[in-house]
Amino acid sequence: MNNENNNSEHIPTVHDFDFNLICEYFLGFERQGPGSREMTLKALGFIEGLGTDSRIADLGCGTGGQTMTLAAATPGHITGLDLFPAFIDRLNGQACELGVQDRVRGVVGNMEAPPFDKGSLDLIWSEGAIYNIGFERGLREWHEYLKPGGYVAVTENTWFTDRRPREIEDFWNAAYPEIDTIPAKIAAMQRAGYEFVAAFVLPESLWADFYDSQKDKKEAFLQKHAGTPFAKQYIDAENYETSLWNRHKAHYGYLFYIGRKAQPVPTER
Ligand code: SAH
Repeated sequence: MNNENNNSEHIPTVHDFDFNLICEYFLGFERQGPGSREMTLKALGFIEGLGTDSRIADLGCGTGGQTMTLAAATPGHITGLDLFPAFIDRLNGQACELGVQDRVRGVVGNMEAPPFDKGSLDLIWSEGAIYNIGFERGLREWHEYLKPGGYVAVTENTWFTDRRPREIEDFWNAAYPEIDTIPAKIAAMQRAGYEFVAAFVLPESLWADFYDSQKDKKEAFLQKHAGTPFAKQYIDAENYETSLWNRHKAHYGYLFYIGRKAQPVPTER
């Protein structure tokens, strides 16, 4: 994804147009990926020691569904980061509505270059978004922004089984080659410098909810953009992904992975 809008005269390219359409499509949703308040709180239950001074980053926050859940459940400062300004506007609007704008703020930015000081964060959160940078790369690169003992909590698409039908294997290997099994993901987290804390599967019903919630929106979106080939292509691709999920959901799904940046080991005297 390209977010070079820092130049004074930004000339839109076909990519901006496509992404703007996708942004418009997802803006009406509370969440832009499978997830729920309950699962966010369950993952948060593994994180110890958060207080009023804690600093939390929510990378790829979207419109801030899980950010607001975190805000209600923790007293610390939260920065939501996303590429899309319209998502961030919605997040900041919600923070004002909930009266948490003094400690919850959305900023436009790139998870590949997060705007945080090194060693400043107690917790990095990322639901349905780390795949944009890649699971292991994201975990490795975000590591330096955490304090020693700081936590990371991310969701990631994962194989549940060791052998899969060719159709679904080929689809995900093309769409996200880093998709792997649960033990492989845990090993990647450990290689990236974290102690493994917990992993759990998100209920299948969340995918069904996520796909169902899009049905009406798809119709309206297609009608509005009837003359735009990309809109139809995009919805066709979404529908194909949904049909694959219906056929092969036994083989893959999202997990939450929670890890902890290793504390320096005290040297023996
Ligand atoms: N966490 C939200 C959104 C998940 S969708 C939820 O679970 O509902 C993935 C989000 O990542 C999108 O909002 C997308 O705009 C954002 N994103 C993609 N690439 C990004 C990048 N390089 N930096 C920051 N955000 C990015």
